[in-house]
Amino acid sequence: QKNNPDILFNNTYIKYLPELGAVINPAKFNKPSWLITSIDTAELLSSPSFPSLQWLSESSLDWFAGKSLVSGAQPFAQKYTGHQFGHYNPQLGDGRGVLLGEVESSHGRFDIHVKGAGQTPYSRFGDGRAVVRSSIREFLASEALHHLGIPTSRALGVFTTGEQVQRETIEQGAALIRVCPSHIRFGHFENAFHHGDTDLQTRLVEYCINHVLPKEHSDLVELYKADASDVSIEEKTRLLFRFTIKRTAEMVAKWQAHGFCHGVMNTDNMSILGLTFDYGPFGFLDQYNPQHICNHSDHTGRYAFDEQPGVALWNLNVLGHSLSGLLDGPILRAELEQYQPHLLAEYSNLMRQKMGFAKHKTDDRILLGELLSLMQENKADYSIVWRTLSEMDNVIVESNKFTDLFIDRDAALKWLKKYSNRLTIETRSDEKRTQTMQAINPKYILRNYLAQQVIEASEQGDNRPLEELYSVLKRPYDSQPEYSRYAQHPPAWSEELSISCSS
Ligand code: AMP
Ligand code: MG
Ligand code: MG
Repeated sequence: QKNNPDILFNNTYIKYLPELGAVINPAKFNKPSWLITSIDTAELLSSPSFPSLQWLSESSLDWFAGKSLVSGAQPFAQKYTGHQFGHYNPQLGDGRGVLLGEVESSHGRFDIHVKGAGQTPYSRFGDGRAVVRSSIREFLASEALHHLGIPTSRALGVFTTGEQVQRETIEQGAALIRVCPSHIRFGHFENAFHHGDTDLQTRLVEYCINHVLPKEHSDLVELYKADASDVSIEEKTRLLFRFTIKRTAEMVAKWQAHGFCHGVMNTDNMSILGLTFDYGPFGFLDQYNPQHICNHSDHTGRYAFDEQPGVALWNLNVLGHSLSGLLDGPILRAELEQYQPHLLAEYSNLMRQKMGFAKHKTDDRILLGELLSLMQENKADYSIVWRTLSEMDNVIVESNKFTDLFIDRDAALKWLKKYSNRLTIETRSDEKRTQTMQAINPKYILRNYLAQQVIEASEQGDNRPLEELYSVLKRPYDSQPEYSRYAQHPPAWSEELSISCSS
């Protein structure tokens, strides 16, 4: 079986939805070379006939690089549209991505997508390429979010193409192999809706129900228990929408709790599965600033950190509008009303865990708000404050490593005393509490400067820093004392880093 990949790939998407894509020939890169790989993602793709290591072999790399075509595979680019910074753009689609096909592994069904695989009918003026810088950023970010517990697309690896690519400067070409259960975006539904073709909209919903949604999800078990042909398209559409609303709310709540800023929440970058998707100018908060804008190209702050929950709702509205050919407005609106309760439930649950509260007290929200204000006023580092709090036992000394994080130490101490007082109603031991707090307050996050350092080393041919950072980010909650330097405050120069859409 070793070199017989015939069994591997399906192409259900292009079979059922031919209008929503184009079969293409990916670019051929003659000298591909693995830059970094994820054995975890390979494991996801593994099956007895195609084990994980084979996914990372040179012969697999040859398919990803277009040097050899998997027989039976029918690579295609997906067509979608979307709202970019609030404006509808009918001319989107995979401009440099190719979906090699879908794999049934021992762990489920996955799309294999190569990002940077050459031009497609949807490239517009783009060159269809990706570069080492942006591919490493996406690789590290998607794997890091996964290990933090945030739903995300995954990455199997990055390979260099051997090409030079023109961006603001000349950069080294690369491609990222993205893996997730489906690449369907809100923009797919917008495209089908703007076609004005109810048959296509119906097929897209049916396709999601039959091939994409997780059959074990609590809101869907009833649907899959029933004979699907007995369920009306209205009901299927409603369940799909409900599912996406819930998943999106949960995802955004996790972003907010962990200080993750996506940067380009255009509707074409929103996954129907509620996965963090399409990494560009993302960033984790360093200093806590709720108005932080991580995307240098976002001049109005549309996608600022604290706008994210509202933008996700705006995007879900667009999705709902795109489903309005199949389902009545009042029903869609009623489903949308569930977004905020889901978001708040998930967010407050996470923040309570971060605070180390197992018991409920009505004033807890105020205590949290006070801490956030303190962080903001003192420009304290979001992740370091939380981690430090989770390392404090319940003994207050006048000067301690928590108060040291604030300019106004007196105010910090005052807050800490209140917090400590609040902890007295908890019945868990301090040891148990700090343990569970450390399991939700990461020590290691992917700061921009860390990504920048390993990118520069890799561009010079030294991948060891990249490998080391990656291994640290796989265990973000473990103390890993030998790597504590990755958990320090960012250096001053990191503030100068400007991350734009260019990739
Ligand atoms: P993004 O900002 O990453 O969501 O990309 C927006 C659109 O531009 C998508 O349709 C991409 O496929 C397309 N795109 C981005 N970069 C390139 C490129 N280098 N060549 C062709 N298309 C691109
Ligand atoms: Mg995109
Ligand atoms: Mg992108």
